[in-house]
Amino acid sequence: MDYRVSAQERAAFKRCRRQWDYGSIHRQRLQSLDPPPIDLTQAIRDALAVYYYPGMWDWHSAIVLPLVRKAFMRSIAAAPPSAQRMEALDLGTELLERYFEWAPSLDDFGPLKIETDVEVLVPDIRESDRALCSADGHRVLYTERVAMVAADAVDEYWVVVHRVVADWQNLEDLLLDEASIAACWAWEQTYLGMDVAGTIYNEMLCPPPAALGPAPTRTRTGSDGRGGYSQNEPSGGGRALQQAERPDRLESRPSIPQRVRQETAGPLRRTWIRRDRAEIGSAAQQVGAEVLDMLDAGLTLYPTPSPTHCPDCSFLAPCLATAQGADPTLDLASRFRQGPAAVTYEPRLGAGGGGRNISLPTKPPPSPWG
Ligand code: SF4
Repeated sequence: MDYRVSAQERAAFKRCRRQWDYGSIHRQRLQSLDPPPIDLTQAIRDALAVYYYPGMWDWHSAIVLPLVRKAFMRSIAAAPPSAQRMEALDLGTELLERYFEWAPSLDDFGPLKIETDVEVLVPDIRESDRALCSADGHRVLYTERVAMVAADAVDEYWVVVHRVVADWQNLEDLLLDEASIAACWAWEQTYLGMDVAGTIYNEMLCPPPAALGPAPTRTRTGSDGRGGYSQNEPSGGGRALQQAERPDRLESRPSIPQRVRQETAGPLRRTWIRRDRAEIGSAAQQVGAEVLDMLDAGLTLYPTPSPTHCPDCSFLAPCLATAQGADPTLDLASRFRQGPAAVTYEPRLGAGGGGRNISLPTKPPPSPWG
């Protein structure tokens, strides 16, 4: 069986090796007996997968928006009943309604694929042109579920990241966001020939500001309903993703592209960041170096305490016991169970779907990149 390292596992490893050791499917794979906290970002992401579902992008909003609300409710309802679940339901509903009002004034792309699983061989950084193998000789793969890939007015492809945030994130943090750069790399390796121009951060303020003023009545592209670019442009049918770049759009691309474009509308902010070839290519080396460390049998599993991630860590109690020189075995045995040896992915709408899930812009407007 292939040795799969997910983007989430990579993030856990970089966050804290002790946390990773406890929870990784390749290590102790411990799962808390307590129900997991409500993941509002995931519930919103599930809803936006329906909002931007390419096959329904041209449908009337009166049909689509109830389905979006339903997807959100279904995601929240998967958690056991609790006061926290009710709070998340109210907050998420408010977020979604504000999103419906404000997103059309920002959307100037067409969704191509949503919730798509990509996986790529991890390079062996010790030897050129070799892929990494686990100790027992299996292929090592980096896996990621990409929330959305969209095409802009000049047929450039963008990896879109949805984030529910308490404050707008620093631009520097977004520029250095190696997880999304790795997603660009993994996408390009999965869909060969389909170069990604960069990443779009779709941030939603949570809770939305109380005084937002009236939402814009015009969509960004002038299209009706949810705006964006129509799915209905005659294209000959059956286009593969990498064939969507049309010659007339290539000519419309700016000769000196802008690195960053940032726009705010009410409770939403969009940040477009171009990623150059070297930047995306460097993700392969970085993922390769990190996974090599993960495979090291002699790896030191030191903790990395931080006020940003320790309060939410399900291993806080055994970690504190270890820090005080106590044996955490009893705590681990009473509050955790061993999870499955492999990640079980729940199929999501659009995941792995192929065919003609393409939305192409109708005509190249004046370049937003100057
Ligand atoms: S509590 Fe903090 S330091 Fe301890 S395992 Fe969790 S993340 Fe690491």
